[in-house]
Amino acid sequence: MSTKIQDILNKTDFSKQDIVTLLNTDKNERQFIFNKANEVKKEFVGLKTYYRGLVEFSNECNKNCYYCGIRAANKDVNRYDISDEQILESVKFAYENKYASVVFQAGERDDIEFIDRIENLLKKAKQITENKIGITISLGEQSLETYKKWHIAGAHRYLLRIETTNKELYYKIHPNNNKHNFEKRLKALEAIKEAGYQTGTGVMIGLPFQTYEHLADDLLFFQKFDIDMVGMGPYIEHTETPLYEHKDILLPLTDRFDLSMKMIAILRIMMKDINIAAATALQAIDPIGREKALKVGANIIMPNITPTINRENYQLYENKPCIDEGAEDCTTCLEARIVIAGDDLGYDAWGDSPHFIKRQQK
Ligand code: SAH
Ligand code: SF4
Repeated sequence: MSTKIQDILNKTDFSKQDIVTLLNTDKNERQFIFNKANEVKKEFVGLKTYYRGLVEFSNECNKNCYYCGIRAANKDVNRYDISDEQILESVKFAYENKYASVVFQAGERDDIEFIDRIENLLKKAKQITENKIGITISLGEQSLETYKKWHIAGAHRYLLRIETTNKELYYKIHPNNNKHNFEKRLKALEAIKEAGYQTGTGVMIGLPFQTYEHLADDLLFFQKFDIDMVGMGPYIEHTETPLYEHKDILLPLTDRFDLSMKMIAILRIMMKDINIAAATALQAIDPIGREKALKVGANIIMPNITPTINRENYQLYENKPCIDEGAEDCTTCLEARIVIAGDDLGYDAWGDSPHFIKRQQK
């Protein structure tokens, strides 16, 4: 290994330049980052993978992010909204299969009918699982009051990706208006923390116009914000979106994949005790992409347990994996894959972020 990489990996704190150097490593050198990340994972969170059963319960969305296939302006999408009964069936499946946690994700809505419905749904999900199921939600930007309401109703983790921490880039991938505002998104993330959630964020990797410097700043942001969980993965272009016009300047998919691996590994070394998800988008590029991420620092996997019939309509990006498998097929195939990746499965455990637990004790 070059002494330069060795010297950086021996540091306790990475500078922006250090991170850029690590992101620039070639195929041989990057292995040292990966090995170090796996060692850190073993020591601080254990070689364990926790499941979160993912229910993508609706693709109705009132926003227009330029990268996303289910944006409001895409008229080619068959909109769906799974009934509460069906969502609760998925929760039951997760509970009975010892997933211990679920994630409810959907397009963004903030009308009162939606807010009340989610509150009710969270309460019911707790009720039918003897209060045992752990619930993460990923329902976009809401008011502090709504975040608090949902927290009290039973959700204890929240995912809201900042998407990019570079303001200029943010407005290249979103409209610039009241619904899409960088400061508002940041404030929402702060409100999530204030409401008492284990707070998760993340970015897309390989966006058009994104540089290694931007990505280094993203990692430093996670650290400064003292985040508990991160889910980040490759950007995958979708033909029916405005951002598709920049497809010619994108890195090849495999490079976006490799860059995502490095981002995960570097983050694990920087923030040793947080939860890091192996994003589904990794699997859209490499059939064993998520398992590869588990070997370089990730410790959370979110098997899709959305009723199969709805899956093909939740295509944030194209080539989304597992859209024609049922929840049970997913479980069996995943279990084998994770064991092959060298991890134990954290069945029947919430698998909370140790970082959050320490943050609470401060
Ligand atoms: N509406 C909510 C949750 C659903 S979208 C929200 O926006 O927060 C969940 C995540 O999917 C987004 O945060 C974004 O990072 C990711 N995503 C959307 N389109 C994508 C694409 N084309 N490629 C990769 N990830 C994408
Ligand atoms: Fe809607 Fe989320 Fe897609 Fe943006 S990323 S368009 S908020 S589903």
